[in-house]
Amino acid sequence: MSITIHCAHCGSENVHRDAFASWNTKTQEWELAAVYDAATCEACENDTTLTERPMQPETAREVAA
Ligand SMILES: [Zn+2]
Repeated sequence: MSITIHCAHCGSENVHRDAFASWNTKTQEWELAAVYDAATCEACENDTTLTERPMQPETAREVAA
C-alpha cells in the first residue's frame, strides 16, 4: 500500500529527512545510500518527527493515471 509522510506537528507533507548520497559513475546519478532519522518540516521551519498515513484511494488512482 502506498503511504504519504506528514509532519507530526502540523500535518504538512512538505518535510525532509537527512540522507547520504553516493555518486554512481555508471549511471552518472547521485544514489541514496542511507536515510537518517533526523527530519525537518518546511511549514514549521523546525525539526520534527514524521508520521505515515495510508494513501487515500482517490489519490492512488491519480498517481496511477
Ligand atoms: Zn510541520
